[in-house]
Amino acid sequence: MLREISAGGVLVRSTPEGWELAVIEPQREASIVGQSDKKRHKEVLALPKGLIDSGEKPAQTAVREVREETGLTGSILAKLSDIKYMYVRSWGDNQRVFKIVSFYLLRYESGNIDDVSPEMRIEVKRAQWIPLEGAERELAYRGERDVIRLAREYLNSHAEEERP
Ligand code: ATP
Repeated sequence: MLREISAGGVLVRSTPEGWELAVIEPQREASIVGQSDKKRHKEVLALPKGLIDSGEKPAQTAVREVREETGLTGSILAKLSDIKYMYVRSWGDNQRVFKIVSFYLLRYESGNIDDVSPEMRIEVKRAQWIPLEGAERELAYRGERDVIRLAREYLNSHAEEERP
């Protein structure tokens, strides 16, 4: 079975209303969902992530992928967890892929949400801020929902340093 190793980020910023999280609406998911009557109007939200380049450390990949896919630069606060899943490639010879994605918690530093390059637009339909509170109800994948809970626990237990 093929293996893919990626890294991604849970990027948060504090606002007067509480923490907000940067999420993306992947382009390909939107078109798949568009074919299904039942789910036609349901947007698929996910965390920014991507394959680890050779010579790159996972935390660097997380920062780079978040910047490329959301337009935002963040600094690493903590490693959250590794999620694992399997999928079948819909192109080529329908190979099964076992995938591991390492997620990091990032604090917002700079940039404007959805300020992404035309090349990145092929992958990302839209990046947006959503409230961290209840964000797991918005995310499409269980592994990512678990990561969000860990992020909230981290922020709650470091309330003094990371107050919104
Ligand atoms: P990357 O973002 O790492 O560059 P990619 O866009 O090629 O990779 P994925 O986002 O892993 O690949 O998507 C491949 C397939 O896996 C898609 O069908 C997608 O719906 C599914 N998928 C993506 N994330 C998850 C997840 N956390 N859990 C289960 N399935 C997922």
